Amino acid sequence: MNDLSGRTGLVVGVANKRSLAWAIAQAAAGAGAQLVLTFQNERLEENVRGLAATLPRAPLLLPCDVTSDEQVKALFTTIEQEVGSLDFLIHGAAFAPREALTAPFTQTSREAFHVALDVSAYSLVALAAGAAPLMAKRGGGSIVTLTYLGSERVVPNYNVMGVAKAALEASVRYLAADLGAHNIRVNAISAGPVKTLAAAGIAGFSSMLQLYRERTPLKRNIEGAEVADMALFLLSHASRAVTGEVLFVDAGFHAMGM
Ligand code: NAP
Repeated sequence: MNDLSGRTGLVVGVANKRSLAWAIAQAAAGAGAQLVLTFQNERLEENVRGLAATLPRAPLLLPCDVTSDEQVKALFTTIEQEVGSLDFLIHGAAFAPREALTAPFTQTSREAFHVALDVSAYSLVALAAGAAPLMAKRGGGSIVTLTYLGSERVVPNYNVMGVAKAALEASVRYLAADLGAHNIRVNAISAGPVKTLAAAGIAGFSSMLQLYRERTPLKRNIEGAEVADMALFLLSHASRAVTGEVLFVDAGFHAMGM
């Protein structure tokens, strides 16, 4: 059901081996997909290049800082020239200035608000707009982004990132409505906490992991591989009627009242 042979996908948001986007890239490549991976800047290029070398088939590696319209445009121009078309897009880019994830939310600066929403929410819109024509060539496609429960409930220190995730999830629904006529589906996976580079920026992250172990119905934390399995489902034929959805991979935490 989850066979991706003959499919090509773009994965944005691999920083290191702990990245959720990397777990998804590995699973998609294992299912037979050919990948295009991006790196944000030269500092991260070597990391991503090292990881890419471990995949069964060498991916195309391209730079993309998602805050740059020029780089996003150049990314899709190169993909069109080198690959021709796309079947899926994994969006795992997010960022908020560290001080916005430690100080009270009331003190969020205009700049921090702008940066968090630009990198973490608008980037999905920009990348979906670039990917859609390449997916239309294939008769459709699947776009998957990563979100967190802090979009709809207050989670201590998640702050402006929660606001960005609310915008991201709303964007998922609007994109799904726009792109559905081209058989392009757009969904989000709402993951439980996993210790990654981005997570390390959230104050009190370790106690969050502990709280999830105590309070989730499954009494445990989740792993990147479990997020990747859900992503494979969303990329595959099995989810062909699912779009505009936020699916939780959080050991059931979202279901609990207390
Ligand atoms: P991660 O490994 O740090 O991934 C975040 C990625 O976003 C990094 O590759 C980062 O690159 C990239 N990024 C930041 N600014 C960018 C820019 N301007 N242009 C291009 N890329 C940029 O952390 P992660 O936890 O796997 O995060 C992936 C996604 O999952 C995020 O949307 C996150 O909010 C979401 N999520 C994570 C958790 C969790 O607990 N880990 C839970 C739910 C949802 P740099 O390293 O260069 O900044």
